[in-house]
Amino acid sequence: MKDTYDFLRIEEKWQRVWEAEKAFHADEDPAKAKFYCLEMYPYPSGRIHMGHVRNYSIGDVIARFKRMSGLNVLHPIGWDALGMPAENAAIKHGIHPREWTLGNIGHMRAQLKRMGFSYDWDREVNSCQPDYYKWNQWIFLKMFEKGLAFRKESWVNWCPQCQTVLANEQVVAGGCWRCDTAVTQKKMEQWFLKITDYADELLSGHAELRKWPEHVLQMQKNWIGRSTGAHVHFGLERSMKKIEVFTTRLDTIYGATFLVVSPEHPAVPELIAGPEQARLRAWVTKTAVAMRMKREIGETEKAGVDTGKKALNPFTGELIPVWLANYVLMDYGTGAIMAVPAHDARDFLFATDYRIPIRTVIAPPAGATKPHDTAPSEVFEEEGVLVNSGPFSGLRSEEAMDKMGAFAEEKGFGRRSVIFRLRDWGISRQRYWGTPIPIIYCAKCGTVGVPYEDLPVEIPYDVQITGAEGSPLARLESFVRTTCPTCGGPARRETDTMDTFVDSSWYFFRYCSPDEKRLPFAPAAAKFWLPVDLYIGGVEHAILHLIYARFFTKVLRDFGLTDIGEPFPHYLAQGMVTKDGSAMSKSKGNIVDPDDILKEYGADVLRVFILFASPPDKEFAWAEEGLEGCHRFLMRVWGLVHENLDVFALGDGPPIATCGAGGPGAIVVRKMHQTIRKVGEDIEHRFHLNTAVSSLMEFLNLIKKERDSLIVTSGGREALRQSLQALIVLLSPFAPHIAEELWEKTGHTGLLMRSPWPAFDEELAREELVTLVVQVNGKLRDKFEAEPDLAEASMKERALALPKIQAALGGRPPRKVICVKNKLVNIVG
Ligand SMILES: [Zn+2]
Ligand SMILES: [Zn+2]
Repeated sequence: MKDTYDFLRIEEKWQRVWEAEKAFHADEDPAKAKFYCLEMYPYPSGRIHMGHVRNYSIGDVIARFKRMSGLNVLHPIGWDALGMPAENAAIKHGIHPREWTLGNIGHMRAQLKRMGFSYDWDREVNSCQPDYYKWNQWIFLKMFEKGLAFRKESWVNWCPQCQTVLANEQVVAGGCWRCDTAVTQKKMEQWFLKITDYADELLSGHAELRKWPEHVLQMQKNWIGRSTGAHVHFGLERSMKKIEVFTTRLDTIYGATFLVVSPEHPAVPELIAGPEQARLRAWVTKTAVAMRMKREIGETEKAGVDTGKKALNPFTGELIPVWLANYVLMDYGTGAIMAVPAHDARDFLFATDYRIPIRTVIAPPAGATKPHDTAPSEVFEEEGVLVNSGPFSGLRSEEAMDKMGAFAEEKGFGRRSVIFRLRDWGISRQRYWGTPIPIIYCAKCGTVGVPYEDLPVEIPYDVQITGAEGSPLARLESFVRTTCPTCGGPARRETDTMDTFVDSSWYFFRYCSPDEKRLPFAPAAAKFWLPVDLYIGGVEHAILHLIYARFFTKVLRDFGLTDIGEPFPHYLAQGMVTKDGSAMSKSKGNIVDPDDILKEYGADVLRVFILFASPPDKEFAWAEEGLEGCHRFLMRVWGLVHENLDVFALGDGPPIATCGAGGPGAIVVRKMHQTIRKVGEDIEHRFHLNTAVSSLMEFLNLIKKERDSLIVTSGGREALRQSLQALIVLLSPFAPHIAEELWEKTGHTGLLMRSPWPAFDEELAREELVTLVVQVNGKLRDKFEAEPDLAEASMKERALALPKIQAALGGRPPRKVICVKNKLVNIVG
């Protein structure tokens, strides 16, 4: 009797075997080339979702393929286990964040195992364990020693719902990235990491990231926001004070008809001093608050006041009015700009509203036409030729910027310079479930780092999580009260915890040596495995995680722990999983739970389905019918192998060359070599896992179709055996359980996942050629060989290019060409 495809039994069986044999254990074997295949580790929210299934299925196919191709593969997984949802669960359900998190990890680990992912479970890392976050603290202290971690008072983005500080990157359209609540502003003492020290290198490093999606690099570029230009000082009239501005268009400075200063600028008290002080101060207070609220939204209407003060334009020697306005932010550039309404759209609108003079100083370059119809009063923002610009008139913009920069430097009122939009990374969070910042405040000694030998500063277990404002740790006297490591006197601990993006900035190093006790990771192991050869994860991490991880890698390199500067030379951003036109989400009610699919169809079907329906980097639209189709496909593979088990009983037959040219054996063998080539190339070079699966389906159909004619000859039986065997092996990265089972059923000993990936024979994979005859006026003149079903246009082109045909036509164009597919080209001359 034929076995039915009992996926539950088969999948459980092989998962047990793989686990017992530690089949996916990675060793540093210097004899083999290494491949580090990494997917972004999950936050243990409780259950895996389809986005995880997709991300990890893609990685698993690559990892299994590379392993079978003879590479030494590291394919690890772990848990991004600190963070807010654990605290929210504690408030809501009264369960301790630690218990909640560990419980979720237990459940999700079982789910990942149930999917058959080929992880090396001995390397699992968990960022909420002290043996992991201890190293966050260690890295922080090293950064503190080197001035890369520092404390300052600053305005911070504050989510009133989550009761915590948010990095700029975590404010999305004015709302909290987690809960969407409108973000407010608050002034606080914060710890920062000096990512700005690496701004230039974060940009220049892009040269090594050629295998990243272009739009991700562009997003990072915009985020880092490098601008070249110049700083120029405008002296305040009747004052020693100078207002410094940054401009990217020094060539327009003769057109600067006013200065605009941010309401938060330190010079504001002096600027508003005088008879109008009360009115101006009221305006400043009101506007500064409104600006902070709307800062990240960018929808504030432009509004300003004239301070009545004047400043000297050092190039023109002219006194121009100084305005305060809400469109100049303190945290970009210097907090003051020179306004050139003729050549800047924002300044133009402002000048028009407030009737400030507009002076043209740039003309379009000679011969250029304006890109669109512009009235003379409208703004011209492009570069061109300077006019009305004193000794610089007549220069082209680029040349002028250089010469004017040099002039400012020579006269001492300015300099050529570069600024960045990137801000230092504020990592302080007033949360419980995060890495305690290892700092002690002593009245005598000041800010002191916790000694390395006292690490980790553990997250205390006994704590009340109420959701009230401020850090739960700050209310825990037993945690706060400590002694100063320097003088031994009474001292207090820092009670803020680190942004959880710190954890994910270096976890890929920890996988290389998860048990390392002296350092965050063993440098030798990191040297062996890093960089990550392929990193797979959602594009939503383009500017958060992927910039921080690059920054940490450069810092760790500068600590001498690694010699790489870029951790992920190849990043594959997988597309979203959608259903009914939108991303799967609780609020849309369109979630499909992987557990339900696992019960109904099993892991192999789910894996094949999620890989087959679209290329990894494109959106994946969930459709139940596709699932059914993949189930049928695997059942057909199962059925076909079982129907032909007797060909495997014969053992290895005669060499395949005896199948007979042109016969069914040759057709199937050719398709086999073509499929081996296609699946390998699709996985390795293009990640077109979807087309790899469809070529397996095609191959299956051909074997099925030719089966009856194959079994009548010994060569045919051998061709059938080899083809079925190849099908099983090629299927294994996608549907590993059924493939292992069939491998065993067909008499193989040893695990399929340890078998080599099959090689293809270029000669045997080649399409058989057909011979086309060429006639001119009914007479046979020549022949040529071509692949079958050559298109008519190509048949015609190739026939006419033959020298004998050209001779027969005597150089005249043919009057008519008739093509018969796979047979002949008939030319009428
Ligand atoms: Zn929030
Ligand atoms: Zn002290």
